[in-house]
Amino acid sequence: MDHFLYRDGILHAEDVPLPEIAAEVGTPFYVYSAATLTRHYRLFEEALRGLPHLVCYAMKANSNLAVLKLLGDLGAGMDVVSGGEYARARAAGVPGERIVFSGVGKTREEMRLALECGIRQINVESEPELLALSGVAASMGLRAPVALRVNPDVDAKTHAKIATGKAENKFGIPIARAPAIYAEAAALPGIEVVGIDVHIGSQLTDLAPFEAAYRKVADLAQALLAAGHPIRRLDLGGGLGIPYVRDNAAPPLPLEWGEVIRRTVGHLGLEVEIEPGRLIAGNAGLLVASVIWLKRGEGRDFLILDAAMNDLVRPAMYDAWHDIVPVIEPAPGAERAPFDVVGPVCETGDTFARGRLLPPLAEGALVAFRSAGAYGAVMASEYNSRPLVPEVLVRGHDMAVIRRRPTFDEMLNRDTIPEWL
Ligand SMILES: *Cc1c(COP(=O)(O)O)cnc(C)c1O
Repeated sequence: MDHFLYRDGILHAEDVPLPEIAAEVGTPFYVYSAATLTRHYRLFEEALRGLPHLVCYAMKANSNLAVLKLLGDLGAGMDVVSGGEYARARAAGVPGERIVFSGVGKTREEMRLALECGIRQINVESEPELLALSGVAASMGLRAPVALRVNPDVDAKTHAKIATGKAENKFGIPIARAPAIYAEAAALPGIEVVGIDVHIGSQLTDLAPFEAAYRKVADLAQALLAAGHPIRRLDLGGGLGIPYVRDNAAPPLPLEWGEVIRRTVGHLGLEVEIEPGRLIAGNAGLLVASVIWLKRGEGRDFLILDAAMNDLVRPAMYDAWHDIVPVIEPAPGAERAPFDVVGPVCETGDTFARGRLLPPLAEGALVAFRSAGAYGAVMASEYNSRPLVPEVLVRGHDMAVIRRRPTFDEMLNRDTIPEWL
């Protein structure tokens, strides 16, 4: 459920009609619903109720400071994957003791930043990283709190580009090697082992891969505890999918995922961390665009929008489906015709949908891409020198621009022409 509904024939974000936002900020723009973000975060809190836990929002899904502040104020921790994300989390008021640092290629500078400014846990993904982190921490007179990310070799049954838990993926330490590396970690001066971490992929629509991975982690935890390692936390990652296609069977709910967690690791009495991103932000956001032209082609009709692959790259990158709906509700029984929905960027890959059945849409009409709140604005670029799309947050009747559209001058001023040219 989200809070983007038609009222009197006009699509609203909570209590704000989308044409009102379009009039204020222009198109294209992203709009997020505070009520939806809040609701989704709370679903995870409820799913883990009774277990010692921390929900660490995977902020790479949507890292606008206002979104982070909203979730942080609800008590969320953050899962960060770069020094920049760490800085964002802190700027949004999230304390270091609620920040987990993930990622396969942290630099020494990023390690130092996190250790200096406060970090709950660093998820280490390789032996070289472990040695480097120990060196950095020891040089600061500290021990870094570490969970080793294990690769359970489980097929997440998701898009190949976002599957992370197979042996062939770059992520984590092969689970069979984990006991040896925990032993190595225990002997390092700058490392304090606190847990085990696993994350097998994103947009999972089946609970079985989670169950398989968590069982392996539970077995490992028991073995490590028996060997005397002070494991006190299990970070079970994120990855629960969202319904991009409305008519399809809905993916499992957070509550059902929580049941899998209880069933597989609940008996261990360890603190549980989870890192949901997409499910919190995905259906809490829309990308709203205008129709520039209707172009009749050879056997195909094109709907050319003012949004493009640089603003929402998921269709081009992952062949992702986004529902595209008119902001003005079509008359019941309005005839639908197939359109290729495209943007103005000079690449054929700049195609949002092929043969999509849509009601009549005139030039200037507003359309909304649903489920665009996660991996939307954060993946945007200025390709074709199209300024980054603004972001708007709505809460009830309130709306605020939480990132404004840069002017051409601001975009150009980041470049420098050398004196000698
Ligand atoms: C991307 C990622 C997540 C979040 O995945 P979602 O599918 O957005 O829930 C969590 N943890 C790690 C380590 C990730 O890389």
